[in-house]
Amino acid sequence: MDSLISSLSEGRGVYVMYFPTSFRIHAVVVNPFRNKELSPSFLEKQYRDACQALGSLHENITFLVDYHTSIDAGSKHVQRMLLEYRQQHPGPVIGVIECPKLQALKSAVRALDDFPCVTIPCNARDNNYQALGWQATAGRTSMQRCAASTQWFNERISLARYAHVPLGNFELDWLLFTADVFFSRALRDQQQVLWISDDGIPDLGGTYEGDTCFADEVIQPALTYPGAYRRVAVELKIHHLAVNSLLKSSQVDEMEGGPIGSFANDMPAGPNGTETEFDDATLCLPAFQVLKQLIQRCISDAVSSGNVFADAILQHLYRWLCSPRSKLHDPALHHLLHNVMKKVFALMLAEFRKLGANVIFANFSKIIIDTGKVDLLSARAYCDSLLKTLQTRDIFEWVELEPLHYWHSLLFMDQYNYGGIQAKMQNATSEGSSDGDNDIDIVSSWNIAEYLPKATQDHFVLIVSEFLYVPWKYMKEQVALRSTTRDETSCTPSITIMAAENLEVQVIGYLRDQISNYFADKLLRIVSDILHHFKGKGKSESVELTNREPDPHTHKGDAALEFIKHICAVLALDQNVQHDILRMRKNLLKLVRVKEFAPEAQFQDPCASFTLPNVICSYCNDCRDLDLCRDSTLQGQEWRCAVPQCGQPYHREQMENALLQVVRQRERLYHLQDLVCLRCRQVKAAHLSEQCSCGGAFRCKEESSQFLSKMRVFLNVAVSQKFELLQDVVQWILEVR
Ligand SMILES: [Zn+2]
Ligand SMILES: [Zn+2]
Repeated sequence: MDSLISSLSEGRGVYVMYFPTSFRIHAVVVNPFRNKELSPSFLEKQYRDACQALGSLHENITFLVDYHTSIDAGSKHVQRMLLEYRQQHPGPVIGVIECPKLQALKSAVRALDDFPCVTIPCNARDNNYQALGWQATAGRTSMQRCAASTQWFNERISLARYAHVPLGNFELDWLLFTADVFFSRALRDQQQVLWISDDGIPDLGGTYEGDTCFADEVIQPALTYPGAYRRVAVELKIHHLAVNSLLKSSQVDEMEGGPIGSFANDMPAGPNGTETEFDDATLCLPAFQVLKQLIQRCISDAVSSGNVFADAILQHLYRWLCSPRSKLHDPALHHLLHNVMKKVFALMLAEFRKLGANVIFANFSKIIIDTGKVDLLSARAYCDSLLKTLQTRDIFEWVELEPLHYWHSLLFMDQYNYGGIQAKMQNATSEGSSDGDNDIDIVSSWNIAEYLPKATQDHFVLIVSEFLYVPWKYMKEQVALRSTTRDETSCTPSITIMAAENLEVQVIGYLRDQISNYFADKLLRIVSDILHHFKGKGKSESVELTNREPDPHTHKGDAALEFIKHICAVLALDQNVQHDILRMRKNLLKLVRVKEFAPEAQFQDPCASFTLPNVICSYCNDCRDLDLCRDSTLQGQEWRCAVPQCGQPYHREQMENALLQVVRQRERLYHLQDLVCLRCRQVKAAHLSEQCSCGGAFRCKEESSQFLSKMRVFLNVAVSQKFELLQDVVQWILEVR
């Protein structure tokens, strides 16, 4: 085996050849300038460090470095080296290549044609050289990759053994590939016809007239209960919901008292609620059964023999199922499982509620619950017992819930707008007395604040954080006070409950007091400052605002008014002090001469958005849903993987393509939509009648204004990400009407 690692960037680059059999690492550096920064000893040190980090043995390897001034000369050198190696070692050899531009490398280094080659996925970050000192960085990275390549190759061999697939036949995304292979074998064993295709549209035989009408979009359910949660809340990550739903589908079925195909009946009338789905669901039932058996086998491999590949397939089952890049992708199968997942999800939430937990937010990947406990220790104990109880239920056998964060206090508006006092995890595990400001982080994640003028954003964040912190600190002091005064007298539980209620009343009273004395004064001062500040500037800064959000529905005139609306909307999340906040709001609005119930004083979430589900990183296979307008990590920069040690940029063309598909599908559904009677709300059945049989007039199910505002969101995304084709298509749709 030999490994060829290379990274290139605009006339600069490094080729590294690693020959494990002859214990040599040979680096060829291409640098148009004269500075030579890499030396064999430097590489040796980097290699040793990399081996240590991986925990593998560091062999005695000879290092060689050559310099060339052009890519051409560099690749010729590589070619020569490989031919030489081939003469010295005529036995069987396999090449392992990690390189950003595989085709270019293969055509430049023809000697590679003599070897069977396998490719390691390449991280795009490796090719981002800085202007100075790039050689050291490239050298270090290449040594890390060299050291890791042996391990990668050995893993690949055991994968090939497990999957019974020849080593060189794996595609770049081995998970999708292996799942496809397994599924097609299982289908063939059951004498079923395969519907393999490359474009994500199942090849079911026959020809389609015009566009195929697959509704590939599924709506991810998300439950949000906005409010202020001033007891400890816990955020749980959900694992294996898809696998669990697949395996427990027949139990869900029995509970429902009907065959599984009937899931399609109670589909919500979303954009996909078409009538063909019933048939699709029934048709793919046999495939569903095959998939279920396949996953059962994977589970027994993963559980009984601890096979890592089977485990990975289980973890990525849902991604495989919904990715149009898997060759056996079938939207109907995806819909079927998605429906079972929805049922299991609903059952799980019901179970949580039955056990007394208060759900704050839930979607397929995470749940936030209010534990109702004041201190962290009892919250953790409560959470543990909750999870244990849930695990005993057969229907959730394979679901795993992992506590991610504990919040002492949480102000929650929706998934993208929340703030809270978060307990630091490492301290929570140790003696969790949860005191001291060092153990907490004040998290502030308010997307709506992005739409405020820059000058007022800091005020917003500060006020909201204080609104969380001040009552929490007070409560902590009170608890401490009580425990000292009552240390000797051990009390019965009922008294503790009483005390807890007392405490809550006390805290609310304190907060009320703070609102009328502290927050109101501070806000009045801030608002009059803003008024002064913007009087001189005229409307210049508000013009900048309107540029960001060209949606005409949202009123963006006055910085002070916007600030008041935003801050009061957030503070009023606390039901206990809502009246006080509303009174304060009324007073603040007087300053800007707006009436309390005037339409321009009503708060609207400024951001219409679109969530692109199931985006997969090509390097680390992380899967997430991208909220294209509200996720702050996606704004104004290249979209990239969120895993900290990865950061691989997403494939631009694939992203644009996915968005195009959604746009085209939404447009199609808009044109094919039903007409509904205004009076009796029945769908129009007759073709030519102008009026409903009840005498009412018809209107479209989806209003054109709704449709167009959705399209405008796509236009914004296209413009900000410079997706030209998408921009053209959406602009055309917008102009036609
Ligand atoms: Zn990644
Ligand atoms: Zn009617």
